[in-house]
Amino acid sequence: MALPDLSLSRSRLDKVSQDRQAEGLLARTLQDPTTSLLLLRDGRCPVHPDGPGRGLRTLRGAEAAAVVAALGGAERLAAGGEDPATEVVAVHLGLLPADDERAPGAVVGLLLPAEGAGPAVEAVAAGPAAGTADPVVEAALAEPAADLRALGTLLPATDAGALTEAVALHHWHRSHPRCPRCGSATRPAAAGHERVCLTDGSTQHPRHDPAVIMTVTDPAGRLLLGHQGRWPAGRFSAFAGFVEPGESLEGAVARELLEEAGVRVREVAYLGSQPWPFPASLMLAFHAETDDTTAVADGDEITEVRWFDRPGLVAAVATGEVTVPPAVSVARRLIEDWLGEPLEQQADWR
Ligand SMILES: [Zn+2]
Repeated sequence: MALPDLSLSRSRLDKVSQDRQAEGLLARTLQDPTTSLLLLRDGRCPVHPDGPGRGLRTLRGAEAAAVVAALGGAERLAAGGEDPATEVVAVHLGLLPADDERAPGAVVGLLLPAEGAGPAVEAVAAGPAAGTADPVVEAALAEPAADLRALGTLLPATDAGALTEAVALHHWHRSHPRCPRCGSATRPAAAGHERVCLTDGSTQHPRHDPAVIMTVTDPAGRLLLGHQGRWPAGRFSAFAGFVEPGESLEGAVARELLEEAGVRVREVAYLGSQPWPFPASLMLAFHAETDDTTAVADGDEITEVRWFDRPGLVAAVATGEVTVPPAVSVARRLIEDWLGEPLEQQADWR
């Protein structure tokens, strides 16, 4: 694997997917004092008070019990509601690895509705006066929390993996409340990893969309990068696009490079993958080679293409003339893989 340890591909939880259908798994786990609760709201999760390098601020023991009680109890949370936009979805994310200081125990994600959307969440956020046992709970929900794009490279592997999974499932639940067959309401099932239609009983599984992302080099080893018209000046990245129905990954790489940059691909090599749950992509990384030395931007999505040699890219990044993608992205890792060394530039692309 040419791109090891991609930031969001480091999950270390034992997902125990074989146990998810077991009766009462989620309710039992929510009542288990060894369970760590990961609270997620608006894509953001509280971080450890000593910083994200120490991990997420997950809740355990009395803190966790207070949150579960405030949200209606373990049974109600495990059953879930019919509208993930206004109700809490609980998901069993997996078991902690043995070398984690919180182990043994499970991690359960509580996917909270957007601020103001749910009375139970308001009760927790309102703190002791509203019946919450521990003001720390209030603090946990109220304190500034960073999102996965900002934290992904900083979090320890276990927490990065847990948060990636929670964010992905949160987006899916929120965006798929109804049955695609009959339009009826659905409820969470399989410990939060499925939804089941209340009318026809059909099971819906989380969706994600494969996308290819690739570097391409010419016979001289120069790297071609593209600039999108909607980006600030100087921002350059690898080419990328969704895989179309009926298309192979290699076919998608070749099509996207021809479409966006006008180059025909000779060789395509797979380099690794990373979930990118914003909202539902799975990024599949490739390196391609082309014999074409002239590239032409499509003028639509891509408005500028530019060849870089290694000293040229290093210099352009050093002066700030060129901005490269953030460290959490596959694009950044692809560019650094070609360069042969990491780039120092910090970037927050939004
Ligand atoms: Zn249905």
